[in-house]
Amino acid sequence: MGGQKTAILSVYDKTGLLDLAKGLHDNGVRLLASGGTAKMIRQANFPVEDVSAITQAPEMLGGRVKTLHPAVHGGILARNLESDESDLSKNSIDKIDYVICNLYPFSETVARINVTIPEAVEEIDIGGVTLLRAAAKNHARVTIISDPKDYHDFLTELKDSGEVTEKSRQRYALKAFEQTAGYDSAISDFFRKKYAGEGEQQLPLRYGANPHQKPATVYAQESQLPFKVLCGSPGYINLLDALNAWPLVKELSQALNYPAAASFKHVSPAGAAIGVELSEEERKVYMVDDIEGIEKSQLAQAYARARGADRMSSFGDMIALSHEVDVPTAKIISREVSDGVIAPKFTDEALEILKKKKGGKYLVLQMDPDYEPGPIETRTVYGVNLQQHRNDAKIVPAETFNTVIVPKNSSPLPESALRDLTVATIALKYTQSNSVCYALNGQVIGLGAGQQSRIHCTRLAGDKADNWWMRFHSRTLNLQWKKGTKRPSKSNAIDLLCSGLIPDSGIERDDFESYFEEGQVPQPFSAEERKEWLSKLTGVALSSDAFFPFIDNVFRAARSGAKYIAAPTGSQNDSAVFETAEKSGITFVEQHIRLFHH
Ligand code: 5GP
Repeated sequence: MGGQKTAILSVYDKTGLLDLAKGLHDNGVRLLASGGTAKMIRQANFPVEDVSAITQAPEMLGGRVKTLHPAVHGGILARNLESDESDLSKNSIDKIDYVICNLYPFSETVARINVTIPEAVEEIDIGGVTLLRAAAKNHARVTIISDPKDYHDFLTELKDSGEVTEKSRQRYALKAFEQTAGYDSAISDFFRKKYAGEGEQQLPLRYGANPHQKPATVYAQESQLPFKVLCGSPGYINLLDALNAWPLVKELSQALNYPAAASFKHVSPAGAAIGVELSEEERKVYMVDDIEGIEKSQLAQAYARARGADRMSSFGDMIALSHEVDVPTAKIISREVSDGVIAPKFTDEALEILKKKKGGKYLVLQMDPDYEPGPIETRTVYGVNLQQHRNDAKIVPAETFNTVIVPKNSSPLPESALRDLTVATIALKYTQSNSVCYALNGQVIGLGAGQQSRIHCTRLAGDKADNWWMRFHSRTLNLQWKKGTKRPSKSNAIDLLCSGLIPDSGIERDDFESYFEEGQVPQPFSAEERKEWLSKLTGVALSSDAFFPFIDNVFRAARSGAKYIAAPTGSQNDSAVFETAEKSGITFVEQHIRLFHH
């Protein structure tokens, strides 16, 4: 290779600097260094020149300009090309072979309480980042050492072979690129908090998933947040719910051309629906029979269905609505226990109603309906980053459900089945896995989320569907409540009755009785009553986020009136699953996309 090699050293963290300087010197390398770095090396009696020796310019502006000079960067960036060589010689610049640099401690400085903006600004390293970047860019020729932990290996390689291999240069370059990226993101994090309007690009949150998880924040990179806070202040879980519930309703509404609603709890839907007209009975079961104008609002009917699917689970929900929120929808929301709502628009009157809820603290988020997230999503778990293409697979009713497996030669699915399979499948796409969903009349009627075994999802969702149906029994519809019984207490008592869990004695029994008029406490449903009523639940559509490994799922689905099942295939038991569906009078549709969600 010939000629003396040159290293430029400019380090804030001077750990191991003298060993490095000695090693370089022993290998015959010429050392150039910036002010403080040169001073330390010189004091240890190793030969070193100041950077100013090659720049012919002094450090200036109190250290703001030390190495920023063509003599430095020309020497680093030059390739082994004739034209580059000629440029260097015309300007009397020598090539630099090794760059050793680490940066001012920006993160440590801004982590100090009460750090001022001028203090932070002074810690923004300019020349160092430029050294790292330039040397890393030209790693085809130059070695960039940005971590004192690498000094030893670097020197060993130099001593053993007199040069640094391409592989090592690549590894060191990557490290330098990671460092400048991390450094820049620490700087933008700091200034985002200071300069981005609160609620525009970032928003501090009270805490994370739990009150001891502080600090917490939500932010968008390079752009505004896609939602505005119109009332209240969102919590971390509210946002997890809202940012899953919104795409669900947007997608559902587009797929079926109806207003759509979802009621979320703990990042899974408790209910989701489109605005299919409610029957009189449904209005009663969903406790919306007194809402004026509901029959004219498809959005209100969608939310009544979403909230009505599983009223107990929806207690304290985060709501997503696909269309402009009107007065009937706001009126339903205003008297339920709920945490917040996200929607693209609100009429003035509807917003007034919502702003009065929870003493003015009800969370109202306005979503930009045109917002489209990028294709890649990244999350950090236990300090490790995971990245994937977003699940942007589209559920298109006429295409997604057109592979009927059994019965063979079946006629096309009826519109209502396509609609309900679409509702169930889109709901699953935004439900924590494993998940299974039963749907009817354009709404979820039972959803089992986050179970480790599929049959437990199918059972849980099936039990919820049964419970939902028992609420339509005339005995449930005609319960005689004690005056003043609150809506959540009614929902809890109905749940005990419908799920067959009425207590027979003790304080739990006393509590149950306290919600009913004297002498009007309901009897539990007998086994015959239950069997007879459940046999009337028919035409149900069921979707599963992945294949059924065993036929037990089909048996369970059939017990809750399943007539259509859509699920991915690929299980060893596929043929047994199809056969069982056929024997149970169920149409089995292959749904080609697995929909795990976490
Ligand atoms: P020294 O202790 O040698 O005076 O300074 C070393 C630090 O200066 C390193 O952290 C390096 O990243 C930084 N540095 C190198 N060149 C420049 C420059 O031109 N301007 C600024 N602001 N910092 C530089």
